Amino acid sequence: MNEELIIGISALRAEKNAIILAHNYQLGEVQDIADFIGDSLELSFKAAECEEKLIVFCGVTFMAETASILAPEKTVLLPSLEAGCPMADMADAESLKKKKSEHPNALVVTYVNSSAEVKALSDTCVTSANAVKIVSQIPKDREIIFVPDRNLGAYVVKKTGRKMILWPGFCPTHMRITPEHLIKRKKEYPDAKIVVHPECSFDVISLADEVLSTGGMIKFAKKTDARRIIVATESGLIYRLEKENPDKQFISVSEQAVCPNMKMTRLEEVLSALEKNQHIIKAPENIAKLAKIPIERMLEASRR
Ligand code: SF4
Repeated sequence: MNEELIIGISALRAEKNAIILAHNYQLGEVQDIADFIGDSLELSFKAAECEEKLIVFCGVTFMAETASILAPEKTVLLPSLEAGCPMADMADAESLKKKKSEHPNALVVTYVNSSAEVKALSDTCVTSANAVKIVSQIPKDREIIFVPDRNLGAYVVKKTGRKMILWPGFCPTHMRITPEHLIKRKKEYPDAKIVVHPECSFDVISLADEVLSTGGMIKFAKKTDARRIIVATESGLIYRLEKENPDKQFISVSEQAVCPNMKMTRLEEVLSALEKNQHIIKAPENIAKLAKIPIERMLEASRR
């Protein structure tokens, strides 16, 4: 069955000159047919720079929307329209406008896990890979509103020493990971290194050997001498880690670390997307123009 789907996807991809991008949390079967796999930042760069005019984006809505903002001349397809991000939904434009009016001099720093409307009201975007770097470049006397992930925000506060007004959003998947999960795994595998994503709560982060984005975890896994690594992020990353490092053992922190939205895209949806040119993701032009500014500022700052 999968073989037929893969043949169909490959044929249509070639016929339509499409590129398939997949987030690190996608199902293994989707990662296997992707042309490029990465974290949010890597996928944003790829969407902006690739030559193909048709992008099949295997991830969640805000990622495909970000790709379409960066590459308005390209068509961006999200195979599963239901694949949203509950964290992104925790910040809306009206509430952010209100918060800005309460802090008129504050800069708004927004995690890419957010809607185009929220980005359009922001000064710069960040990802988990570059948030510390970008916030530390902001003049010390500027007030900062950090949207929407309070856990990533708290981690950035800790690393930079900056005070920030934190939006009360969070990732439900990473919040299900508890210190007890990590303590249990460390007892089972005492020689293992612990890597934690900064969307986890601070109690979990404080038990980490390394706090890293998914892209950072991929690089760490390659270069570390550790033979075993406990991975505290969405479990889809384990597939790629194992594939690229067959000599090492990767242990998911908990069977609860699964994002249902990231698992909605299967090969069937990818094939349908290519067959029916669905579902086209595009923010309204006026919003997209404004949202592009903070995203480009982020890409520029991460290149420095
Ligand atoms: S893992 Fe969390 S932040 Fe990522 S898409 Fe799922 S809910 Fe959103």
